[in-house]
Amino acid sequence: MSRAYDYLVVGAGLFGAVFAEEAAKSGKKVLVIDRRPNIAGNVYTEDIEGIHVHKYGAHIFHTNDTKVWNYIQQFAVFNRFTNSPVANYHGELYSLPFNMYTFNRMWGVITPEEAAAKIEEQRKAAGITEPRNLEEQAISLVGTDIYEKLIKGYTEKQWGRPCTELPAFIIKRLPVRYTFDNNYFNALYQGIPVGGYTAMVANMLKGVEVRLNTDYLKHKAELDALADQVVYTGAIDAYFDYALGYLAYRSVRFETEVLDKPNFQGNAAVNYTDRETPWTRIIEHKWFEFGKDSEGRDLPKTVISREYSSEWKPGDEPYYPVNDEKNGVLYQEYRKLADQEKQVIFGGRLGEYKYYDMDKVIASALDLCRRELS
Ligand code: UDP
Repeated sequence: MSRAYDYLVVGAGLFGAVFAEEAAKSGKKVLVIDRRPNIAGNVYTEDIEGIHVHKYGAHIFHTNDTKVWNYIQQFAVFNRFTNSPVANYHGELYSLPFNMYTFNRMWGVITPEEAAAKIEEQRKAAGITEPRNLEEQAISLVGTDIYEKLIKGYTEKQWGRPCTELPAFIIKRLPVRYTFDNNYFNALYQGIPVGGYTAMVANMLKGVEVRLNTDYLKHKAELDALADQVVYTGAIDAYFDYALGYLAYRSVRFETEVLDKPNFQGNAAVNYTDRETPWTRIIEHKWFEFGKDSEGRDLPKTVISREYSSEWKPGDEPYYPVNDEKNGVLYQEYRKLADQEKQVIFGGRLGEYKYYDMDKVIASALDLCRRELS
């Protein structure tokens, strides 16, 4: 007997939305379900006081992949937002990512040669040749002072682990530049979808059947019976009811406030890089969209979110996979189980337990489409 749908897509986040959109376009019958009352997964934006609030953390779209950029442009116009977060270390403000403004503020150096010499001197003093963890990687890239003031506290708050126990790749996400350039990303294309991410994902899912408030794992048997194939974008260990143990994730909690002033911090993101401040960063959402020159003439209020990191425990929302060695080994065990589930394809940050950026999620979903839908 033929089933009602070719594909059941579990999760209406970016991975699920890309796959559903492409599958529907190629004539497949697709049903998308999501446990939450809304689409868009963790890129969901909610309208508060006319501001698109990034409910599950700041998302700045950036990519070097022309294919991905062209693909996503079908669903939204992107503004020209450039991410340039500010670091606040006990009231000292530094430019991010690490660049000549940062080096000048830290050491008073003026030229790239002076900055490079300072970093080299600190790297040598620390005795690092082959960096084996995040701490050594950070010191070898930017020296001890920047590590101590701008990296150590922030990273240990965000990941809940000492920097010596974290993989070096996490810090390599940040550029180090010997130029006066505060652009956080080395990406050719960058911006925020005008109208918010929710509208963008709604455009992707136009014409696709979506059922919200539907918990796949709770109703697995009856939902599986609806489709020939399942594309599952939830946490891989949850799929197997944690049979091999819990994978580690970091969770994030936001305290969001509407303030009766047009401008709270003058920037979309301020990172609190000391260990003592309990939040990691404060996001002021209006600056993603309105441009820094409006000075509240358009909107007298502002919305801010303080972001707090914690270790994930059952019942929390998982945000970041902890891609260290131990969890890598456990993930591979889950991967073997996943390979035996012939009816199910696992994808996305949670399904593949990978610290994917949005563009990489889209690229990986488009890859799957190529293999699956041709
Ligand atoms: N990081 C840091 N200080 C900062 C910003 C970032 O040490 O002010 C480090 C930290 O280890 C973090 C990593 O860089 O986990 C990656 O930061 P990114 O902003 O890419 O993280 P995301 O936005 O994905 O949370």
